[in-house]
Amino acid sequence: MRSVKPPSVDALARSLADTGLPHPLLVGAARTAIAEGDPGEASQRARRHARLMALALLQPVINATGVLLHTNLGRAPLAVAAEAAYTNLELDLSSGRRGSRHAHAAAMLARLCGADAAIVVNNGASAVLLVLAALAAGRGAAVSRGELVEIGGGFRVPEVMEQSGARLVEVGTTNRTRLTDFAAAAADSANDTVLALKVHQSNYRIVGFTESVTVSEMASLDVPVVADIGSGLVDSACPWLDDGPPSWLAGEPAARQTLSAGAALVTFSGDKLFGGPQAGIIAGRVDLVEKCARHPLARALRPGSLVLGALQQVALAYLRRDGQAIEFWRMASAAADELECRARAVVAECGIGEAASMASVPGGGTIPGAEIDSFGVVVDGDCRAALRAGSPPVIARVSDGRTWLDLRTVAPGDDRRVAAALSALG
Ligand SMILES: *Cc1c(COP(=O)(O)O)cnc(C)c1O
Repeated sequence: MRSVKPPSVDALARSLADTGLPHPLLVGAARTAIAEGDPGEASQRARRHARLMALALLQPVINATGVLLHTNLGRAPLAVAAEAAYTNLELDLSSGRRGSRHAHAAAMLARLCGADAAIVVNNGASAVLLVLAALAAGRGAAVSRGELVEIGGGFRVPEVMEQSGARLVEVGTTNRTRLTDFAAAAADSANDTVLALKVHQSNYRIVGFTESVTVSEMASLDVPVVADIGSGLVDSACPWLDDGPPSWLAGEPAARQTLSAGAALVTFSGDKLFGGPQAGIIAGRVDLVEKCARHPLARALRPGSLVLGALQQVALAYLRRDGQAIEFWRMASAAADELECRARAVVAECGIGEAASMASVPGGGTIPGAEIDSFGVVVDGDCRAALRAGSPPVIARVSDGRTWLDLRTVAPGDDRRVAAALSALG
């Protein structure tokens, strides 16, 4: 038998040029394939390695899961401007002097929340970290034992507190905490309590024999109240939606109402119900926001112009009361019968599966149990891997041995791509 000569790394890499990956990456794929032995199949293996590299790159995907804020898919859907350009990030265009990066997006956010000031950091966790470090390092911060939560991905209140240098003053019990518990903790000078923190339970609920203290009750304490509302609902009246607040939103705390109830500061994520990029927003009293801005951590946690630009765009849409211009809210408020029409059109186009009603969820660790009537396409069997391997990848979910594609989280302009992905299954 004649042994097959191993192909040269360079020739093999060049044969993969159609993948569009840069040559050094293809050389890596070729080397790995050759090192794996059996030269006769090196070419196929190299192509497979190149394909895995391409799949590992950050890329747009179609979210057909019906989970509006899907943590694995970057939470809120985001438009990214592609053109290279300078911005007035730290230039005051009116005076020509050095400006502040908190002057544009943060100023709009403050206005939106009815706050005197705001500052933007990289995510919700860093917002809480910065507030605690700037206002309570070396001092006591009081939190109800029922709110010492862990939010998905390892945001644990006691650990964030420890990192900030603030001392956790635990108040009340897991299921019941009263205002008198807070007042007693604040009055005990050994605690050296300088702020009270209220943390929204976001992704879980305590039911039954429970009692908790509202922000307006806490506002009677002698220390400022910081409310980590988490999800970033701006205003519980949802003036940016024609039909007002959807029923599934009931009970979710909102920035504007939390501040007017007496919170000195609110913190929230930019990419949950706010519908923007990953960011953390701190809004409220000027003196406290300035203390946060002056803390050395503020620089370590500050976002760049990409994030600030995207946040500002969303804030302006809210101020125009144009929820349809915020992709998350456009998707969240789409009528089920409109989705049904789209689902029937997709099925007619691809000739596979059937249109079916289903339920979307807000996701992102917000509003557990909430469901939104939706419509989409269902096909027999588990087709997730084939759909994921498409271009663009389509992410679906499986239940009862069938694959469900919810059109609520699919941009209408992507329906044709979904139909093509389904056709390719057949
Ligand atoms: C989501 C959430 C966080 C963490 O925010 P990230 O933006 O994920 O860092 C903190 N607190 C609450 C209450 C949350 O819901």
